[in-house]
Amino acid sequence: MKRILLIGTGGTIASSPTEDGLTPSLSSTDLLERVPEIKEFCSPSCIQAFNMDSTNIRPEHWLAIAGIIERNYGLYDGFVITHGTDTMAYTSAGLSYLVQNSAKPIVITGAQISAAQGDSDARRNLIDAFICASDPNSCGVLIVFSGSVILGTRARKNYTKRFAAFESANYPEVARVQGGHMFWFIPQTCSRDVRFFGNINSNVGLLRLFPGMTEDVLGFMTDHYDGLVIECFGVGGLPEYYEFYSHIKSSVEKGTLIVMTTQVPNEGSDLGLYKVGHRFKQEPNILEAHDMTSESALAKLMWILGQTKDMNKAKILFNTPVSHDMIV
Ligand code: ASP
Repeated sequence: MKRILLIGTGGTIASSPTEDGLTPSLSSTDLLERVPEIKEFCSPSCIQAFNMDSTNIRPEHWLAIAGIIERNYGLYDGFVITHGTDTMAYTSAGLSYLVQNSAKPIVITGAQISAAQGDSDARRNLIDAFICASDPNSCGVLIVFSGSVILGTRARKNYTKRFAAFESANYPEVARVQGGHMFWFIPQTCSRDVRFFGNINSNVGLLRLFPGMTEDVLGFMTDHYDGLVIECFGVGGLPEYYEFYSHIKSSVEKGTLIVMTTQVPNEGSDLGLYKVGHRFKQEPNILEAHDMTSESALAKLMWILGQTKDMNKAKILFNTPVSHDMIV
């Protein structure tokens, strides 16, 4: 039987009601006790990384989770991580860069309703996550939620309340878990050696453009961060009514890594299409996210800037797909 390590990190799935609202309190042991039937097809163990609302999770927690996986990699055949849904897509992206080419599945799940409540989706999601982590065809970082199996680099939380909270953005779901079985739509190929990364530069920002945004907002972001993802309108570009363009150009010349993307949920950016974006497209040092999610673009910049300060190397790394984060 496959040995699967459950890593508890908190979230709604582990929460209980308090006077001040829901807060994580159930341990990974408590969660395992709620799904005794998984022992029919795998041999589970558990560990508690921390117990937090995922609102409080930062890149250093991604490193802590990756560290647990690295230390236990030889001992287990797969990993299940229980996590809050609010920042799950950032963590799944972060782990996709910190743990690359893993032939062993790293499956992240959570719930919209606490496991402590009767009408919860926690049991189904947990059982599905263990089914996925035990499947011989699974590998790499995946989110399993409400039956959907989504690449860690492609997940986005789309609904705050309904059970099917996540979508796979600009890429198909790779599989579904249904009736206790895995149905693969896109077979996974993970034949290379696993690689763990222990460094990240979390000094990276994400700025969503809004009508009337002033130069000082952009200035604050470019002055404070080593890398910046700018979510533009539509296929991309920046307004022409301030000196946004020359500001971005001089920031890039000073060494800030800037990625332009779109705030539209689906179909990605195409910076060269309109005049408002065209000149950014001409700038070799300005990067474009194309069909990547903003979560992945942000996490990828953090990972890259943790590896190198060399702009040319950083550009090459950004444009090199990792776990199908971008279609070339
Ligand atoms: N606030 C919770 C969290 O992200 C929401 C959830 O888990 O669904 O930790």
